[in-house]
Amino acid sequence: MDLNELWRSVLGELQVTLSKANFETWFKNTFIFEQKKNVFTIGVPTFFVEDWLKKKYIKELERAIEKQTEEKSPVIKFKIASPQPDQVITFAQDKLIHKPVEKPAHSSPQKSTPQTLPQNTTLSDNYVFENFIVGPSNQLAHAAAIAVAASPGLQYNPLYIYGESGLGKTHLIQAVGHELLKKHPNKKVLYVSTETFINDFIQAVGQGFGKAKDFKTRYRNVDLLLIDDIQFLSSKEGTQDEFFHTFNHLYQNKKQVILTSDRTPKDIKGLEVRLKTRFEGGMVCDISQPDLETREAILRHKAIQLKKEVADDVISYIASSISSSVRELEGALNKVLAACSLTKCDITLDKTKEILSNMVIEKQQTLTPDVIIREVHKFYNIPIEDLLGPKRTKEFVSARHIVIYLLRHLCNLSYPEIGRKMGGKDHSTIMHGCKKIETNISSDLRVKEDLTILKDRIYSSVS
Ligand code: ADP
Ligand code: MG
Repeated sequence: MDLNELWRSVLGELQVTLSKANFETWFKNTFIFEQKKNVFTIGVPTFFVEDWLKKKYIKELERAIEKQTEEKSPVIKFKIASPQPDQVITFAQDKLIHKPVEKPAHSSPQKSTPQTLPQNTTLSDNYVFENFIVGPSNQLAHAAAIAVAASPGLQYNPLYIYGESGLGKTHLIQAVGHELLKKHPNKKVLYVSTETFINDFIQAVGQGFGKAKDFKTRYRNVDLLLIDDIQFLSSKEGTQDEFFHTFNHLYQNKKQVILTSDRTPKDIKGLEVRLKTRFEGGMVCDISQPDLETREAILRHKAIQLKKEVADDVISYIASSISSSVRELEGALNKVLAACSLTKCDITLDKTKEILSNMVIEKQQTLTPDVIIREVHKFYNIPIEDLLGPKRTKEFVSARHIVIYLLRHLCNLSYPEIGRKMGGKDHSTIMHGCKKIETNISSDLRVKEDLTILKDRIYSSVS
């Protein structure tokens, strides 16, 4: 079997359960270096990625490889290596190769040290207006994005786009960046996730005046600032303050700011009132779930991009089975295409039904405490009885606190309700666990990262 094809299918499978950011961060430029019997060596770009994949994704990788190869208990090893050009996997939803956007016109190259300025100044090649299908669910946001691209900083500032995960927010705001650069190649466009903004800020503060200045230059010296998933700014007082000043600076200089979030400004708990007011002062629009016709159009467009012929009945079937997110819709199409190409069979309706049957069943769940408990159990690989039980092992206790925190924040359960769910623990124990995570989240990067991944997994397993 062709190892590249195998890796494509494995990634196709993982892609469905991970957010785009996570998927790209950890799987970009990975490939199968070699296979000897049941030992699969994965080529990874850095030790850091190796370490992370080992800790967080090894089970998923084993499972996906086992499924694709029918090799019982595959053994996974890692090796730091660069892929050959033909080993770089690209997907319909996003080319995994990025092109830098910030043009260091006059600055010397060594100025932008890779450690402090990671690939967050990049736009995905695919996220352009031409690839964005417009329907009733995203019409308004699309129109606003077009207007902003035509006259940035003038009409709708800031533009705030909100909607659930996987509905095209990132795509749309990056399209504005592309469009602006197409017309004015010298303009400075900066796209960052809110997490990157926060991390950059924390680093800048921790490293003294010079870095703080770099930070200011970096964020204030742009024509278009795209900040993704601003809800993560919630309860980060120091960063909110800095963001407020950054925002004001840009706004006063008639520079455009575009923000996305999974909720309205009003609904972001722990966001300062002055920021809410600013966000609401521009244009706020939402993206909702696409209707059937739009979903079909998106699939058709993706199939054309991939140069694959996909029959109408297959398109209709996929579009009617998956309604909640475009990301999943694409994941499903990728999965069908990969499976058919791997087994060299035609893409028929029956085959599609067979391939998607598991996926569709999995998706019909709703967010319940059990989903959270299950995902935490899988993530830390801790048996459910130990997660809920009384054992005081450090590892169990900290995973337990994570469950408590998520039950409180994602399911809005009261402390006594959580206590009952957690095998009859009392109110004060639960409150203590929850507070512990709430405190640690801003100081402990590990906790923060774990929660980001877990939330992604939880949401994608129920959406
Ligand atoms: P969000 O930021 O809202 O979570 P993304 O922008 O990451 O969602 O979109 C998820 C995937 O779905 C991306 O690959 C994107 O290209 C695709 N997508 C979303 N909406 C559309 C659309 N209207 N037309 C084409 N592709 C879309
Ligand atoms: Mg996004």
